[in-house]
Amino acid sequence: MINKKSREEIKLMKIAGSIVALVHKEMEKVIEPGISTLELDKIAYDIIKKNKAIPTFLGYNGFPASICASINEQVVHGIPNKDVILKEGDIVSIDVGATFRGLVGDGAWTYPVGKISSEVQKLLEVTKNALFKGIEQMIPDSPLELVSAAIEDAALEGKVGIVREYGGHGVGKNMHEEPFLFNYRTNSKIIIKPNCAIAIEPMLNLGCDEVHTLEDNWTVVTNDKKPSAHFEHTVIATQDGPLITTQLID
Ligand code: MG
Repeated sequence: MINKKSREEIKLMKIAGSIVALVHKEMEKVIEPGISTLELDKIAYDIIKKNKAIPTFLGYNGFPASICASINEQVVHGIPNKDVILKEGDIVSIDVGATFRGLVGDGAWTYPVGKISSEVQKLLEVTKNALFKGIEQMIPDSPLELVSAAIEDAALEGKVGIVREYGGHGVGKNMHEEPFLFNYRTNSKIIIKPNCAIAIEPMLNLGCDEVHTLEDNWTVVTNDKKPSAHFEHTVIATQDGPLITTQLID
């Protein structure tokens, strides 16, 4: 069952999303060599709380933090840690959720730490491009498969690996709702309902597609240990076009 959002729910999702965007605005400022991922988590927690929202990830299936912080070969679900100190040339994917009056915003961005190699820079650009190509296809009454296809094509064109085990998802009162959104073609027959909300989140790898989960049961890493990037926005398919909720409200 795909939930369509009411006008009131869309309003609240825009507020929740704007809090996610505030966290990312601060991440962009503070991410530099020497900071730990636990410090980033504390900053995110404080921003979410200050804005009267709830950190959606904290306690979700037992997750111990407000952000996922995944460095280099880590794809998603990295646990913030005082001993993980960012260094020049790393990349770090920050995924964060905020729940405002019962509605969720979910957004991720991959940040360079200082100067990074040109091939990793290109991975970031390809992944971000895949996200926005997918967003363009969030049109009411259109096939969801077109979102998947746009992401897949952008990844193939960029000659990067596509993580197959994880993907986007409906979002609203819960962080994870139907439908699941694959980042590649699957012949899905799902139609995008007017005013449905989906978190679109390509996860693309510099090397192979394959990933596995570490012994902490959370951190997903690439099998070939090459870097992975992750960009995500929460998007509502409105009659006026795709509405990104995870952005600042002016
Ligand atoms: Mg998500």
